[in-house]
Amino acid sequence: MRLGRRTFAACWVVNPDKKVLICGGGVAGPACAYWLNKYGYTVVVAEKAPGLRDGGQNVDIKGAGQRVIEKMGLVDAVIAKDTQEQGQKYLDAAGHVVATLPKQAFGSLTNDFEILRGDFARILYDLTQDQCEYRFDTVVAYLEEKSHCVSVTFGDRTVEDFEFVVCAEGMGSSTRQMVMAQEVRFRYLGAHMSFFNIPRRPEDDHWALTVNGLGGTFLTLRPGNDTETTVLLTFLAHEDGTPGDAAAPKDLLRRALDGRGTIADRVSSELDAVEDFYFGPMSQVHVSRWSKGRVVLVGDAAYCPTPFTGSGTALALVGAYVLAGELSRHRDHAEAFVAYERLVRPYAEAAQNQLTPALIRFIHVKTRLEVALAHLLIRGIALGATQRIAKLIADRRGTEVADEFVLADYF
Ligand SMILES: Cc1cc2nc3c(=O)[nH]c(=O)nc-3n(C[C@H](O)[C@H](O)[C@H](O)COP(=O)(O)OP(=O)(O)OC[C@H]3O[C@@H](n4cnc5c(N)ncnc54)[C@H](O)[C@@H]3O)c2cc1C
Repeated sequence: MRLGRRTFAACWVVNPDKKVLICGGGVAGPACAYWLNKYGYTVVVAEKAPGLRDGGQNVDIKGAGQRVIEKMGLVDAVIAKDTQEQGQKYLDAAGHVVATLPKQAFGSLTNDFEILRGDFARILYDLTQDQCEYRFDTVVAYLEEKSHCVSVTFGDRTVEDFEFVVCAEGMGSSTRQMVMAQEVRFRYLGAHMSFFNIPRRPEDDHWALTVNGLGGTFLTLRPGNDTETTVLLTFLAHEDGTPGDAAAPKDLLRRALDGRGTIADRVSSELDAVEDFYFGPMSQVHVSRWSKGRVVLVGDAAYCPTPFTGSGTALALVGAYVLAGELSRHRDHAEAFVAYERLVRPYAEAAQNQLTPALIRFIHVKTRLEVALAHLLIRGIALGATQRIAKLIADRRGTEVADEFVLADYF
């Protein structure tokens, strides 16, 4: 899908009485800050980290998320940082191509917009930093709900009143736990995941390379920037890591890569030098209600689908757009929170339902026979032969619902 390059004239009308706090300066937070500021709110963004967190690997911006990008006038900025990924190649253990899925082909992980998370976070920050007040190294220590505001005590013990608080702190949000711990459930999908960067090699082109390794290891290398290639490694494991094992994360990764072929050997040989890497359980966040009093959740804090879906960034953008839009439509924040959840929850749940422990197990093949069957299936998809069956399964999982979310026009 091609997107228009429509840019909205900035029209920042700030009403000092409408002061709101957004906790979390990742993706959902700055996106929400943009829209709330546009609707006349004075926005403070509190970020726990000492500076902008511009780490992370490839994120897809698909479906309705692309339309939010368009409404924010960011199409050109995102295209300028596109990783230029052409599509995805499945390889066998020896590194031979099993099947090729070009960009946007059914089953391919490559979308219209492929950008590194850090580049995208930087774009959102640059867009909002002059209109919104960013406070780094800042967390909420305590919240007190009052009749006309919420009184926030920050980590440094300063106290400030806000009309409401938007919690966009990502999966492990502590403010969410402070306010609605009872409502939160983590759904573990049966695998652990890690993402990090390794040095780019001359042979690295603009294709993502995926290997189904034996023993439930799934490995994807993707184009990053001029000097780095990104790695997404997932492997079947019990919820607390690997069977009864307190080994350091890198040892667990090495074990998951061992004997899984040439690409895995390359990644394994680079592991020692990797300093910045994410490692953790592949879990989703399910929250039975997304707001309580004057606090509302958005993005991964409310409905993390796991990075494995590739939907988290689009969901964050759509949630931020709808939440701010409903706040601009309703006089009462509580009514706006309810309207936002009613609209976005089916979309978020459809994205989350794309992944189940059974599907994760299906993708993470274990035996030689399963590897051979996976190669047959992916070849069939590439040739179009098994596409109808695979598409039917995907549709039943809600892929279409997730892509077809219709954005209201709020301005
Ligand atoms: C460093 C990093 C790397 C990532 N890499 C990838 C990736 O490679 N692939 C992928 O698909 N997804 C990745 N993600 C997740 C992806 O950004 C989200 O799924 C999606 O964009 C939704 O964004 P979010 O704003 O809801 O959450 P996040 O992007 O996680 O942002 C949450 C922000 O809140 C901040 N925060 C946390 N707790 C507090 C607190 N108590 N007070 C104030 N601030 C707080 C965090 O520091 C972070 O900046 C990454 C997230 C982070 C933070």
